[in-house]
Amino acid sequence: MKKENVVAKKKFGQNFLKDESVLRKIIQAMPKNDNKVVEIGPGLGDLTKFLVDVKSVEAFEVDTDLCKLLQSEFKEEIDTKRLHLNCGDVLQAWQSALVDEPYDLVANLPYYIATNIILKALADPMCKNILVMVQLEVAEKFCAVAGEKVFGSLGIITQSVGDAHIVVRVPPTAFDPQPKIDSAVFLIAKKRDRSDKEFEDMLRVAFTQPRKTLMKNLSSKYEKTSLEEAFDSLEFTQTIRPHQVSTNDFHQLYKIIK
Ligand code: SAM
Repeated sequence: MKKENVVAKKKFGQNFLKDESVLRKIIQAMPKNDNKVVEIGPGLGDLTKFLVDVKSVEAFEVDTDLCKLLQSEFKEEIDTKRLHLNCGDVLQAWQSALVDEPYDLVANLPYYIATNIILKALADPMCKNILVMVQLEVAEKFCAVAGEKVFGSLGIITQSVGDAHIVVRVPPTAFDPQPKIDSAVFLIAKKRDRSDKEFEDMLRVAFTQPRKTLMKNLSSKYEKTSLEEAFDSLEFTQTIRPHQVSTNDFHQLYKIIK
């Protein structure tokens, strides 16, 4: 099959990034280091082409038709080991580490599994930085800070692991086919790995009903007296909402009530 005859498959979240200025912004935003690059979903190889110019790349593509196309398009890079292409579902291939050396994840992710992939990368000890395109709403959740309406578990988990910011917003017109929603590229510079499952369980309870008070949400799992003591010592009001509590304060709260 030729590149121009490819019909995008919805079930694999295929929206190919065609705007070269966005591709260049992704390359410019890449952290400067010696890490390998992992690309999830190279698709037609438009981003891959730029990546192999600057780094050695390990790519994972689930679509066998696209995989065949990439194998012929990038024959030279594959032969010279600039590119290693894994054909199959990245989630099946992912053990605790996706590859066995330090890497940065750089990708225009398939949106239907983007959150799952980012959470796995945050937990992966070999993953050092995450520079990905996702739908704008998801990027905003990962980059949110306390006080913002969208601040929740994803923002707290991210801030507990490193620093995050949005690199560029991307309109539907940058893709073929065009998605219905806006997208954004964002960067997480990891300083440590995501690891404390019990802390994340507490977050899930804290945000069960995001518009209710933190006290009400946490009371469904934790003892009221220990919550009241913790709220007093952290000077939280009884009416504080979960999105108003900073990441640091959530960690303090966890230390007291766990
Ligand atoms: N990187 C290309 C670009 O920027 O134009 C394509 C991005 S497209 C949004 C997502 C890509 O991820 C598609 O090529 C799709 O086939 C691939 N994909 C979807 N699910 C996958 C999975 N479970 N494992 C590996 N690749 C997957």
